[in-house]
Amino acid sequence: MSTDSWDYSLFWNEALEQLRKEISDQEFSMWFSGMKYDSAEERVIVVSVPSSFYRDQVKQRYLPLIEGKLHELAGSSFSLSFVVRKTESTPKKRTVEREETVERRVKARTPHRELRQEYTFDNFVIGENNSFAANAAMAISRNPGTGYNPCLIYGGVGLGKTHLIQSIGNSVHTEFDDLKIVYVTAESFTNEFIQSIREKRTHQFKNKYRYADVLLIDDIHFLQKKAETQEELFHTFNALYDANKQMVFTCDRPVSELRELTDRLRSRFERGLNVDLQPPSYETRYAILKKKIDAAGIVMPEEAVSLICSNVTTNVRDLEAALTKLIAYAELVNKNITVEITKQQLKDVFASPKQNNITIDLIQRQVADYFNLSANDLKGRRRTKVISLPRHLAMYIAREITEFSTTEVGLEFGGRDHTTVMHACQRIENRMRTDATLEPTIQHLIRSIKEQSTR
Ligand code: ADP
Ligand code: MG
Repeated sequence: MSTDSWDYSLFWNEALEQLRKEISDQEFSMWFSGMKYDSAEERVIVVSVPSSFYRDQVKQRYLPLIEGKLHELAGSSFSLSFVVRKTESTPKKRTVEREETVERRVKARTPHRELRQEYTFDNFVIGENNSFAANAAMAISRNPGTGYNPCLIYGGVGLGKTHLIQSIGNSVHTEFDDLKIVYVTAESFTNEFIQSIREKRTHQFKNKYRYADVLLIDDIHFLQKKAETQEELFHTFNALYDANKQMVFTCDRPVSELRELTDRLRSRFERGLNVDLQPPSYETRYAILKKKIDAAGIVMPEEAVSLICSNVTTNVRDLEAALTKLIAYAELVNKNITVEITKQQLKDVFASPKQNNITIDLIQRQVADYFNLSANDLKGRRRTKVISLPRHLAMYIAREITEFSTTEVGLEFGGRDHTTVMHACQRIENRMRTDATLEPTIQHLIRSIKEQSTR
């Protein structure tokens, strides 16, 4: 059957019109304006989107909403299907310019002063843990200021936040000659601001930041408690946002967990796209390590590589540090790296408490066992005394002996809020001051959890 026999375009337009009223302008222009009616089949509307990243995002965020709306309008179910058509969303001016500048690009621009050259997308290994963030970063660097603005990348230490945010800077720097890129850590931003006040040249400071085309600020958690700097950034943000300039921030936790941040700045960061970086899986660690080994031009037995990947599980920085230590040793004694040398040289790293693989699930099971409860009791809603204390203890222990954030801990306890976890920890700490038996109980539990984790 020819696809021409079905035309639901009016119907699609009506659905969009109605949805426009139901979601914020910002969201609408970010995600809906890139979708174009393409064609149709029976009860299927095909829309085109500018990239597969865009498609995945729209599917994940809005598919039920859109299909629900279509259903509502038609009175029976409709489904949506996507085709990726690249040309439409790229601003014409830049596309043309990019074609003309191929040669210039090959010549490579002088490196950007504030960016480290090795932080590029080419050097970034994409895995399950970071693909969302990496794809968003790449999409931004192809079309800065036009789509995902602002973008906030968050995640724990050593997971690649600085690498990604600087890759955006490096990529835009090579691709778009005319764009001014400013990269700064939140700490330097704060110091520069304070200095500019002291030296009475705040206008210079403002000029530097408010005329950026791409503003990249790393580690915004540092801004907590810096009220005046937050105020300044708030105004900078508004100026750039109104001018459609791209902003990217990184943070070591979700913005909602930043305690000492004004609400209005928090809400600015939460606009646009927030993407997270998770610790890498074994396979991704392996791919990253192999890439680093190749780059260093060294030879290593496969078994040594997998030994490191199995034992260094925390983050990429620790993985790199382990490799660096090994290479340094091998060079020093002028020997090839063997499995034996790996075991010997990295035994402290492997044994460190960071690498002990303690899961929240394990903590829940051990604590529940101790109190003759089930792990589900701890995750459930019942708040009797018999359950509350063990639940609070398990949360407290999770925060003490793992690297999980309060948000992550809360999620594992039946989707509780991070503030609940914080209160639980506070209660236990208070109680320890008055109840002398609590501390030994906690120590006993921690010991048994650690024993279990190494089995
Ligand atoms: P963060 O800023 O999140 O603390 P970094 O960006 O400094 O982490 O990353 C720590 C180190 O790990 C850097 O040397 C970085 O190049 C490297 N790294 C992190 N993620 C990856 C990855 N996916 N592929 C390759 N290298 C990575
Ligand atoms: Mg960093």
